Amino acid sequence: MDLLAQYLYILSASLFVLSLKWMSEVKTSRRGNWSAMAGMVTAIVATFIAYPVQHVPLLAVAAVVGAIVGIPIAMKLPMTAVPQRTAMSHAFGSLAVALIGVAEYHQRAPAVDPFTMSVLASEMILGFLTFTGSCVAFAKLQELIPGKPFVYKGRHLVNLGTLAAAVVTAVLLVLHPEKTFLVPVLAGFALLFGFLLVMAIGGADMPTVIAILNSYAGLSAAGLGFVLNSKILVVAGTLDGSSGLILALIMSQAMNRSFLNVMFGGVGAAPTGGAKAAKETRSVKSYLPEDVAAVLDGARTVMVVPGYGMAVAQAQHAVKEFADLVEAKGGKVVYAIHPVAGRMPGHMNVLLAEAQVPYDRLLEMDEANPMFPEADMAIVVGANDVVNPAARTQTDSPLYGMPILDVDKARSAVFIKRSMNPGFAGVDNELFFLPNTMMVFGDAKKVMTEIAAAIKKG
Ligand code: NDP
Repeated sequence: MDLLAQYLYILSASLFVLSLKWMSEVKTSRRGNWSAMAGMVTAIVATFIAYPVQHVPLLAVAAVVGAIVGIPIAMKLPMTAVPQRTAMSHAFGSLAVALIGVAEYHQRAPAVDPFTMSVLASEMILGFLTFTGSCVAFAKLQELIPGKPFVYKGRHLVNLGTLAAAVVTAVLLVLHPEKTFLVPVLAGFALLFGFLLVMAIGGADMPTVIAILNSYAGLSAAGLGFVLNSKILVVAGTLDGSSGLILALIMSQAMNRSFLNVMFGGVGAAPTGGAKAAKETRSVKSYLPEDVAAVLDGARTVMVVPGYGMAVAQAQHAVKEFADLVEAKGGKVVYAIHPVAGRMPGHMNVLLAEAQVPYDRLLEMDEANPMFPEADMAIVVGANDVVNPAARTQTDSPLYGMPILDVDKARSAVFIKRSMNPGFAGVDNELFFLPNTMMVFGDAKKVMTEIAAAIKKG
Protein backbone atom coordinates (compact mmCIF):
# COMPACT_ATOMS: atom_id res chain seq x y z
CA MET A 1 0.00 0.00 0.00
CA ASP A 2 2.80 2.35 0.93
CA LEU A 3 4.46 1.75 -2.42
CA LEU A 4 1.17 2.50 -4.19
CA ALA A 5 0.96 5.81 -2.31
CA GLN A 6 4.51 6.70 -3.38
CA TYR A 7 3.68 5.99 -7.04
CA LEU A 8 0.54 8.07 -6.73
CA TYR A 9 2.61 10.94 -5.28
CA ILE A 10 4.97 10.74 -8.28
CA LEU A 11 1.95 10.81 -10.60
CA SER A 12 0.52 13.76 -8.72
CA ALA A 13 3.81 15.72 -8.84
CA SER A 14 4.08 15.03 -12.60
CA LEU A 15 0.54 16.31 -13.11
CA PHE A 16 1.40 19.53 -11.23
CA VAL A 17 4.50 20.09 -13.39
CA LEU A 18 2.52 19.43 -16.58
CA SER A 19 -0.25 21.76 -15.42
CA LEU A 20 2.24 24.63 -15.08
CA LYS A 21 3.59 23.87 -18.54
CA TRP A 22 0.13 23.76 -20.09
CA MET A 23 -1.08 26.84 -18.25
CA SER A 24 1.68 28.92 -19.79
CA GLU A 25 -0.24 29.03 -23.09
CA VAL A 26 -3.83 30.08 -23.64
CA LYS A 27 -4.41 27.18 -26.06
CA THR A 28 -3.53 24.53 -23.49
CA SER A 29 -4.55 26.33 -20.30
CA ARG A 30 -7.80 24.37 -19.79
CA ARG A 31 -5.83 21.16 -19.99
CA GLY A 32 -3.46 22.69 -17.44
CA ASN A 33 -6.36 23.31 -15.08
CA TRP A 34 -7.67 19.77 -15.41
CA SER A 35 -4.20 18.42 -14.87
CA ALA A 36 -3.79 20.45 -11.65
CA MET A 37 -7.17 19.23 -10.39
CA ALA A 38 -6.31 15.62 -11.19
CA GLY A 39 -2.93 16.09 -9.46
CA MET A 40 -4.64 17.39 -6.32
CA VAL A 41 -7.21 14.56 -6.22
CA THR A 42 -4.41 12.01 -6.71
CA ALA A 43 -2.40 13.59 -3.87
CA ILE A 44 -5.42 13.43 -1.53
CA VAL A 45 -6.11 9.78 -2.38
CA ALA A 46 -2.43 8.93 -1.86
CA THR A 47 -2.47 10.66 1.54
CA PHE A 48 -5.48 8.59 2.63
CA ILE A 49 -3.59 5.45 1.59
CA ALA A 50 -0.23 6.45 3.11
CA TYR A 51 -1.35 7.77 6.52
CA PRO A 52 -3.76 6.53 9.18
CA VAL A 53 -6.07 9.51 8.71
CA GLN A 54 -8.00 10.40 11.87
CA HIS A 55 -11.37 12.09 12.37
CA VAL A 56 -12.56 11.24 8.85
CA PRO A 57 -16.16 12.40 9.53
CA LEU A 58 -14.81 15.80 10.65
CA LEU A 59 -12.74 16.06 7.46
CA ALA A 60 -15.80 15.13 5.40
CA VAL A 61 -17.86 17.87 7.07
CA ALA A 62 -15.06 20.40 6.43
CA ALA A 63 -14.85 19.34 2.77
CA VAL A 64 -18.63 19.63 2.31
CA VAL A 65 -18.76 23.07 3.97
CA GLY A 66 -15.80 24.20 1.83
CA ALA A 67 -17.50 22.96 -1.33
CA ILE A 68 -20.81 24.61 -0.42
CA VAL A 69 -19.04 27.95 0.03
CA GLY A 70 -16.45 27.58 -2.73
CA ILE A 71 -18.40 26.19 -5.69
CA PRO A 72 -21.01 29.00 -5.93
CA ILE A 73 -18.26 31.62 -5.54
CA ALA A 74 -16.26 30.05 -8.37
CA MET A 75 -19.33 29.64 -10.62
CA LYS A 76 -20.78 33.13 -10.13
CA LEU A 77 -17.62 35.18 -9.83
CA PRO A 78 -17.01 37.56 -12.77
CA MET A 79 -13.60 37.23 -14.36
CA THR A 80 -12.80 40.80 -13.35
CA ALA A 81 -12.94 39.72 -9.69
CA VAL A 82 -10.48 36.84 -10.08
CA PRO A 83 -7.51 38.78 -8.60
CA GLN A 84 -9.30 39.45 -5.31
CA ARG A 85 -10.55 35.86 -5.22
CA THR A 86 -6.97 34.72 -5.76
CA ALA A 87 -5.88 36.98 -2.90
CA MET A 88 -8.46 35.28 -0.65
CA SER A 89 -7.22 31.83 -1.74
CA HIS A 90 -3.71 32.84 -0.73
CA ALA A 91 -5.04 34.20 2.57
CA PHE A 92 -6.91 31.01 3.50
CA GLY A 93 -4.19 28.67 2.18
CA SER A 94 -1.42 30.43 4.05
CA LEU A 95 -3.47 30.72 7.26
CA ALA A 96 -4.13 26.96 7.12
CA VAL A 97 -0.42 26.26 6.66
CA ALA A 98 0.55 28.62 9.50
CA LEU A 99 -2.03 27.11 11.87
CA ILE A 100 -0.92 23.57 11.06
CA GLY A 101 2.59 24.79 11.89
CA VAL A 102 1.37 26.04 15.27
CA ALA A 103 -0.43 22.72 15.91
CA GLU A 104 2.70 20.74 14.97
CA TYR A 105 4.77 22.88 17.33
CA HIS A 106 2.40 22.23 20.24
CA GLN A 107 2.35 18.51 19.50
CA ARG A 108 6.14 18.33 19.60
CA ALA A 109 7.08 20.99 22.20
CA PRO A 110 9.24 21.13 24.24
CA ALA A 111 11.33 18.52 22.38
CA VAL A 112 11.64 20.29 19.04
CA ASP A 113 15.03 19.91 17.41
CA PRO A 114 16.66 23.11 16.08
CA PHE A 115 16.23 22.19 12.40
CA THR A 116 12.52 21.41 12.74
CA MET A 117 11.98 24.50 14.89
CA SER A 118 13.69 26.79 12.39
CA VAL A 119 11.64 25.39 9.50
CA LEU A 120 8.44 25.64 11.57
CA ALA A 121 9.21 29.21 12.62
CA SER A 122 10.03 30.26 9.02
CA GLU A 123 6.87 28.74 7.60
CA MET A 124 4.78 30.31 10.38
CA ILE A 125 6.25 33.75 9.59
CA LEU A 126 5.59 33.31 5.87
CA GLY A 127 2.11 31.88 6.44
CA PHE A 128 0.94 34.58 8.87
CA LEU A 129 2.36 37.50 6.89
CA THR A 130 0.82 36.13 3.70
CA PHE A 131 -2.54 35.93 5.48
CA THR A 132 -2.75 39.61 6.47
CA GLY A 133 -0.96 40.76 3.29
CA SER A 134 -3.50 38.89 1.16
CA CYS A 135 -6.42 40.26 3.18
CA VAL A 136 -5.17 43.82 2.55
CA ALA A 137 -4.63 43.01 -1.16
CA PHE A 138 -8.22 41.69 -1.29
CA ALA A 139 -9.56 44.85 0.37
CA LYS A 140 -7.62 47.10 -2.04
CA LEU A 141 -8.63 45.16 -5.14
CA GLN A 142 -12.27 45.03 -4.02
CA GLU A 143 -11.98 48.77 -3.34
CA LEU A 144 -13.07 48.29 0.27
CA ILE A 145 -10.11 50.48 1.23
CA PRO A 146 -8.31 53.06 -0.95
CA GLY A 147 -5.74 51.55 -3.32
CA LYS A 148 -3.25 54.35 -2.71
CA PRO A 149 -0.07 53.43 -0.85
CA PHE A 150 -0.07 54.12 2.88
CA VAL A 151 3.20 56.00 3.02
CA TYR A 152 4.72 57.94 5.89
CA LYS A 153 8.18 59.02 6.93
CA GLY A 154 10.20 56.17 8.36
CA ARG A 155 7.97 53.41 6.99
CA HIS A 156 10.97 51.38 5.80
CA LEU A 157 12.32 51.41 9.32
CA VAL A 158 8.97 50.33 10.79
CA ASN A 159 8.53 47.57 8.17
CA LEU A 160 12.03 46.20 8.49
CA GLY A 161 11.89 46.57 12.27
CA THR A 162 8.70 44.49 12.43
CA LEU A 163 10.22 41.81 10.20
CA ALA A 164 13.41 41.84 12.27
CA ALA A 165 11.33 41.41 15.46
CA ALA A 166 9.61 38.36 13.93
CA VAL A 167 12.98 36.87 12.93
CA VAL A 168 14.51 37.51 16.37
CA THR A 169 11.49 35.82 18.00
CA ALA A 170 12.00 32.87 15.63
CA VAL A 171 15.67 32.61 16.67
CA LEU A 172 14.66 32.69 20.35
CA LEU A 173 12.18 29.89 19.67
CA VAL A 174 14.89 27.79 18.04
CA LEU A 175 17.11 28.33 21.09
CA HIS A 176 14.27 27.87 23.62
CA PRO A 177 11.55 25.74 22.02
CA GLU A 178 9.96 25.22 25.45
CA LYS A 179 8.94 28.91 25.67
CA THR A 180 5.50 28.48 24.12
CA PHE A 181 4.53 32.15 24.67
CA LEU A 182 6.96 33.09 21.87
CA VAL A 183 4.67 31.51 19.24
CA PRO A 184 1.85 34.08 19.55
CA VAL A 185 4.49 36.84 19.71
CA LEU A 186 6.01 35.57 16.45
CA ALA A 187 2.55 35.29 14.88
CA GLY A 188 1.72 38.86 15.96
CA PHE A 189 4.86 40.36 14.38
CA ALA A 190 4.39 38.36 11.18
CA LEU A 191 0.71 39.36 10.92
CA LEU A 192 1.64 43.01 11.44
CA PHE A 193 4.45 42.86 8.87
CA GLY A 194 2.11 41.38 6.22
CA PHE A 195 -0.40 44.15 6.89
CA LEU A 196 2.22 46.95 6.71
CA LEU A 197 3.89 45.41 3.65
CA VAL A 198 0.81 45.52 1.44
CA MET A 199 -0.65 48.74 2.88
CA ALA A 200 2.49 50.52 1.66
CA ILE A 201 2.03 49.34 -1.91
CA GLY A 202 0.03 51.31 -4.45
CA GLY A 203 -2.84 49.86 -6.48
CA ALA A 204 -0.87 49.80 -9.71
CA ASP A 205 1.69 47.45 -8.15
CA MET A 206 -0.87 44.91 -6.98
CA PRO A 207 -0.02 42.40 -9.76
CA THR A 208 3.51 42.05 -8.38
CA VAL A 209 2.24 41.84 -4.82
CA ILE A 210 -0.23 39.09 -5.65
CA ALA A 211 2.56 37.12 -7.33
CA ILE A 212 4.84 37.58 -4.31
CA LEU A 213 2.11 36.51 -1.89
CA ASN A 214 1.52 33.49 -4.10
CA SER A 215 5.19 32.69 -3.80
CA TYR A 216 5.23 33.13 0.01
CA ALA A 217 2.18 30.87 0.40
CA GLY A 218 3.93 28.18 -1.67
CA LEU A 219 7.20 28.47 0.22
CA SER A 220 5.46 28.21 3.58
CA ALA A 221 3.63 25.06 2.38
CA ALA A 222 6.96 23.62 1.21
CA GLY A 223 8.44 24.34 4.67
CA LEU A 224 5.55 22.52 6.32
CA GLY A 225 6.17 19.62 3.93
CA PHE A 226 9.67 19.23 5.42
CA VAL A 227 8.29 19.20 8.95
CA LEU A 228 5.53 16.71 8.14
CA ASN A 229 7.87 14.68 5.95
CA SER A 230 5.37 15.03 3.09
CA LYS A 231 7.25 14.91 -0.20
CA ILE A 232 4.23 15.97 -2.23
CA LEU A 233 3.74 19.07 -0.07
CA VAL A 234 7.41 19.95 -0.61
CA VAL A 235 7.06 19.49 -4.39
CA ALA A 236 3.72 21.33 -4.71
CA GLY A 237 4.82 24.14 -2.38
CA THR A 238 8.12 24.58 -4.21
CA LEU A 239 6.38 24.68 -7.59
CA ASP A 240 3.97 27.28 -6.26
CA GLY A 241 6.74 29.25 -4.57
CA SER A 242 9.10 29.28 -7.53
CA SER A 243 6.47 29.99 -10.19
CA GLY A 244 5.10 32.83 -8.03
CA LEU A 245 8.59 34.22 -7.63
CA ILE A 246 9.28 34.04 -11.37
CA LEU A 247 5.96 35.77 -12.09
CA ALA A 248 6.76 38.46 -9.51
CA LEU A 249 10.15 39.05 -11.16
CA ILE A 250 8.55 39.29 -14.62
CA MET A 251 5.92 41.70 -13.28
CA SER A 252 8.49 43.90 -11.50
CA GLN A 253 10.50 44.05 -14.70
CA ALA A 254 7.39 44.93 -16.74
CA MET A 255 6.52 47.68 -14.25
CA ASN A 256 10.16 48.83 -14.03
CA ARG A 257 10.10 48.34 -10.26
CA SER A 258 12.86 47.27 -7.95
CA PHE A 259 11.92 43.77 -6.83
CA LEU A 260 13.39 44.38 -3.36
CA ASN A 261 11.29 47.52 -2.98
CA VAL A 262 8.10 45.61 -3.72
CA MET A 263 9.15 42.81 -1.38
CA PHE A 264 9.64 45.21 1.50
CA GLY A 265 6.69 47.45 0.79
CA GLY A 266 8.52 50.45 -0.55
CA VAL A 267 6.75 51.21 -3.80
CA GLY A 268 4.57 54.10 -4.77
CA ALA A 269 3.90 57.63 -3.80
CA ALA A 270 0.49 58.96 -2.88
CA PRO A 271 -1.48 59.44 -6.10
CA THR A 272 -2.08 63.01 -7.08
CA GLY A 273 -4.85 62.15 -9.52
CA GLY A 274 -7.81 62.13 -7.15
CA ALA A 275 -7.16 65.63 -5.90
CA LYS A 276 -6.34 66.91 -9.36
CA ALA A 277 -9.45 65.31 -10.84
CA ALA A 278 -11.60 67.38 -8.51
CA LYS A 279 -9.83 70.57 -9.60
CA GLU A 280 -9.79 69.77 -13.35
CA THR A 281 -11.46 72.59 -15.23
CA ARG A 282 -10.44 71.82 -18.81
CA SER A 283 -13.10 70.22 -20.94
CA VAL A 284 -12.67 67.49 -23.51
CA LYS A 285 -14.51 67.07 -26.76
CA SER A 286 -16.79 64.11 -26.87
CA TYR A 287 -17.33 62.23 -30.15
CA LEU A 288 -19.92 59.76 -31.42
CA PRO A 289 -19.26 56.22 -32.67
CA GLU A 290 -20.14 57.45 -36.19
CA ASP A 291 -17.29 60.00 -35.98
CA VAL A 292 -14.84 57.18 -35.24
CA ALA A 293 -16.15 55.16 -38.19
CA ALA A 294 -15.68 58.20 -40.45
CA VAL A 295 -12.04 58.74 -39.32
CA LEU A 296 -11.41 55.02 -39.80
CA ASP A 297 -12.36 55.18 -43.44
CA GLY A 298 -9.20 54.40 -45.37
CA ALA A 299 -7.18 53.56 -42.24
CA ARG A 300 -4.41 51.09 -42.96
CA THR A 301 -3.18 50.21 -39.51
CA VAL A 302 -5.40 50.24 -36.44
CA MET A 303 -4.01 49.30 -33.03
CA VAL A 304 -6.47 48.16 -30.40
CA VAL A 305 -5.35 48.76 -26.80
CA PRO A 306 -7.55 46.74 -24.49
CA GLY A 307 -7.74 47.30 -20.74
CA TYR A 308 -9.76 46.53 -17.66
CA GLY A 309 -12.86 48.29 -19.06
CA MET A 310 -13.00 45.80 -21.95
CA ALA A 311 -13.17 43.03 -19.36
CA VAL A 312 -15.86 44.81 -17.32
CA ALA A 313 -17.98 45.42 -20.42
CA GLN A 314 -17.21 41.96 -21.89
CA ALA A 315 -16.54 43.84 -25.10
CA GLN A 316 -14.07 41.36 -26.60
CA HIS A 317 -16.55 39.91 -29.13
CA ALA A 318 -17.61 43.41 -30.24
CA VAL A 319 -13.91 44.31 -30.59
CA LYS A 320 -13.36 41.25 -32.80
CA GLU A 321 -16.36 42.14 -34.96
CA PHE A 322 -14.98 45.68 -35.30
CA ALA A 323 -11.56 44.31 -36.30
CA ASP A 324 -13.09 41.97 -38.90
CA LEU A 325 -14.94 44.91 -40.50
CA VAL A 326 -11.80 47.09 -40.61
CA GLU A 327 -9.90 44.20 -42.19
CA ALA A 328 -12.69 43.58 -44.70
CA LYS A 329 -12.11 47.17 -45.84
CA GLY A 330 -8.40 46.54 -46.36
CA GLY A 331 -7.02 47.71 -42.99
CA LYS A 332 -4.86 45.74 -40.60
CA VAL A 333 -5.74 45.41 -36.94
CA VAL A 334 -3.29 44.43 -34.23
CA TYR A 335 -3.69 44.37 -30.44
CA ALA A 336 -1.16 46.02 -28.14
CA ILE A 337 -1.11 44.15 -24.86
CA HIS A 338 0.42 45.70 -21.77
CA PRO A 339 1.69 43.12 -19.25
CA VAL A 340 -0.50 44.52 -16.44
CA ALA A 341 -3.57 45.48 -18.47
CA GLY A 342 -6.76 44.30 -16.76
CA ARG A 343 -6.63 42.82 -13.32
CA MET A 344 -4.59 39.65 -13.70
CA PRO A 345 -1.61 38.49 -15.71
CA GLY A 346 -2.73 37.44 -19.18
CA HIS A 347 -6.24 38.88 -18.62
CA MET A 348 -6.48 40.48 -22.08
CA ASN A 349 -4.97 37.47 -23.86
CA VAL A 350 -7.58 35.17 -22.32
CA LEU A 351 -10.50 37.44 -23.27
CA LEU A 352 -9.29 37.99 -26.83
CA ALA A 353 -8.58 34.28 -27.29
CA GLU A 354 -12.16 33.60 -26.17
CA ALA A 355 -13.32 35.94 -28.97
CA GLN A 356 -11.20 33.93 -31.48
CA VAL A 357 -8.70 36.73 -32.11
CA PRO A 358 -5.72 35.06 -33.85
CA TYR A 359 -2.86 34.75 -31.39
CA ASP A 360 -0.31 36.29 -33.76
CA ARG A 361 -2.25 39.57 -33.70
CA LEU A 362 -1.52 40.07 -30.01
CA LEU A 363 1.64 42.13 -29.65
CA GLU A 364 3.59 42.49 -26.44
CA MET A 365 4.59 46.01 -25.40
CA ASP A 366 8.10 45.84 -26.89
CA GLU A 367 6.74 44.77 -30.26
CA ALA A 368 3.79 47.16 -30.22
CA ASN A 369 5.48 50.41 -29.20
CA PRO A 370 7.60 50.86 -32.36
CA MET A 371 4.39 50.44 -34.42
CA PHE A 372 2.40 53.30 -32.87
CA PRO A 373 4.00 56.12 -34.93
CA GLU A 374 2.92 54.26 -38.08
CA ALA A 375 -0.62 53.56 -36.86
CA ASP A 376 -3.51 55.57 -38.28
CA MET A 377 -5.50 55.01 -35.14
CA ALA A 378 -4.98 53.65 -31.65
CA ILE A 379 -8.32 52.65 -30.20
CA VAL A 380 -8.15 52.36 -26.43
CA VAL A 381 -10.92 50.10 -25.18
CA GLY A 382 -11.30 50.62 -21.44
CA ALA A 383 -7.58 51.04 -20.73
CA ASN A 384 -6.15 53.93 -18.78
CA ASP A 385 -3.13 53.41 -16.48
CA VAL A 386 -1.28 51.35 -19.10
CA VAL A 387 -1.28 54.30 -21.54
CA ASN A 388 -0.99 57.14 -19.02
CA PRO A 389 2.02 59.38 -19.83
CA ALA A 390 2.21 60.41 -16.15
CA ALA A 391 4.27 57.22 -15.87
CA ARG A 392 6.97 58.96 -17.95
CA THR A 393 6.94 62.43 -16.44
CA GLN A 394 5.20 62.76 -13.07
CA THR A 395 7.80 61.78 -10.52
CA ASP A 396 5.28 61.94 -7.65
CA SER A 397 2.82 59.64 -9.39
CA PRO A 398 2.39 56.01 -8.31
CA LEU A 399 2.70 55.10 -11.99
CA TYR A 400 6.07 56.82 -12.39
CA GLY A 401 8.64 54.58 -14.04
CA MET A 402 6.17 52.02 -15.41
CA PRO A 403 6.65 51.53 -19.16
CA ILE A 404 3.46 52.38 -21.04
CA LEU A 405 1.99 51.76 -24.46
CA ASP A 406 2.84 54.76 -26.69
CA VAL A 407 -0.72 55.52 -27.74
CA ASP A 408 0.10 59.25 -27.90
CA LYS A 409 2.46 58.56 -30.82
CA ALA A 410 -0.32 57.23 -33.09
CA ARG A 411 -1.80 59.64 -35.66
CA SER A 412 -5.08 59.64 -33.74
CA ALA A 413 -6.20 58.07 -30.50
CA VAL A 414 -9.73 57.08 -29.55
CA PHE A 415 -10.58 56.51 -25.89
CA ILE A 416 -13.66 54.48 -25.11
CA LYS A 417 -14.70 54.79 -21.48
CA ARG A 418 -17.73 55.85 -19.49
CA SER A 419 -16.48 59.01 -17.80
CA MET A 420 -13.40 61.10 -17.04
CA ASN A 421 -12.61 58.90 -14.05
CA PRO A 422 -9.00 57.85 -13.64
CA GLY A 423 -7.83 54.22 -13.82
CA PHE A 424 -6.90 51.86 -11.00
CA ALA A 425 -3.93 53.96 -9.83
CA GLY A 426 -6.13 57.05 -9.47
CA VAL A 427 -4.00 59.26 -11.73
CA ASP A 428 -5.44 61.73 -14.26
CA ASN A 429 -4.60 61.10 -17.88
CA GLU A 430 -3.29 64.01 -19.94
CA LEU A 431 -3.94 62.14 -23.18
CA PHE A 432 -7.67 62.91 -22.90
CA PHE A 433 -6.88 66.57 -23.58
CA LEU A 434 -4.59 66.18 -26.61
CA PRO A 435 -5.85 67.58 -29.94
CA ASN A 436 -5.60 64.24 -31.76
CA THR A 437 -7.56 62.39 -29.06
CA MET A 438 -11.22 61.50 -29.53
CA MET A 439 -13.17 60.68 -26.37
CA VAL A 440 -16.16 58.41 -26.94
CA PHE A 441 -18.07 58.05 -23.69
CA GLY A 442 -20.09 54.91 -22.99
CA ASP A 443 -19.91 51.24 -22.12
CA ALA A 444 -17.15 49.64 -24.20
CA LYS A 445 -19.35 46.85 -25.60
CA LYS A 446 -22.11 49.25 -26.60
CA VAL A 447 -19.72 51.76 -28.19
CA MET A 448 -17.73 49.09 -30.08
CA THR A 449 -20.99 47.58 -31.37
CA GLU A 450 -22.13 51.02 -32.51
CA ILE A 451 -18.82 51.75 -34.25
CA ALA A 452 -19.11 48.38 -36.02
CA ALA A 453 -22.68 49.22 -37.07
CA ALA A 454 -21.54 52.62 -38.39
CA ILE A 455 -18.71 50.97 -40.39
CA LYS A 456 -21.21 48.50 -41.89
CA LYS A 457 -23.54 51.35 -42.85
CA GLY A 458 -20.97 53.57 -44.29
P1 NDP B 1 -7.40 50.90 -15.55
O1 NDP B 1 -7.99 50.35 -14.31
O2 NDP B 1 -6.26 51.82 -15.45
O3 NDP B 1 -8.52 51.67 -16.38
C1 NDP B 1 -9.67 51.02 -16.81
C2 NDP B 1 -10.57 52.04 -17.43
O4 NDP B 1 -11.68 51.32 -17.94
C3 NDP B 1 -11.09 53.05 -16.43
O5 NDP B 1 -10.52 54.32 -16.67
C4 NDP B 1 -12.61 53.05 -16.62
O6 NDP B 1 -13.05 54.36 -16.89
C5 NDP B 1 -12.81 52.16 -17.85
N1 NDP B 1 -13.99 51.30 -17.76
C6 NDP B 1 -14.43 50.59 -16.72
N2 NDP B 1 -15.55 49.95 -17.02
C7 NDP B 1 -15.82 50.25 -18.31
C8 NDP B 1 -16.86 49.88 -19.20
N3 NDP B 1 -17.86 49.08 -18.84
N4 NDP B 1 -16.81 50.38 -20.46
C9 NDP B 1 -15.82 51.22 -20.84
N5 NDP B 1 -14.83 51.60 -20.04
C10 NDP B 1 -14.81 51.11 -18.78
O7 NDP B 1 -7.07 49.64 -16.47
P2 NDP B 1 -5.77 49.27 -17.28
O8 NDP B 1 -6.08 47.95 -17.89
O9 NDP B 1 -5.32 50.38 -18.16
O10 NDP B 1 -4.64 49.11 -16.18
C11 NDP B 1 -4.70 48.07 -15.23
C12 NDP B 1 -4.40 48.60 -13.84
O11 NDP B 1 -4.74 47.60 -12.87
C13 NDP B 1 -2.94 48.94 -13.66
O12 NDP B 1 -2.80 50.00 -12.75
C14 NDP B 1 -2.41 47.64 -13.04
O13 NDP B 1 -1.21 47.80 -12.34
C15 NDP B 1 -3.57 47.28 -12.12
N6 NDP B 1 -3.64 45.85 -11.77
C16 NDP B 1 -3.34 44.92 -12.70
C17 NDP B 1 -3.35 43.59 -12.38
C18 NDP B 1 -2.88 42.58 -13.39
O14 NDP B 1 -2.38 41.53 -13.00
N7 NDP B 1 -3.06 42.85 -14.68
C19 NDP B 1 -3.77 43.12 -11.02
C20 NDP B 1 -4.14 44.20 -10.14
C21 NDP B 1 -4.06 45.53 -10.51
P3 NDP B 1 -14.59 54.76 -16.64
O15 NDP B 1 -14.88 54.44 -15.23
O16 NDP B 1 -14.62 56.21 -16.96
O17 NDP B 1 -15.40 53.95 -17.60
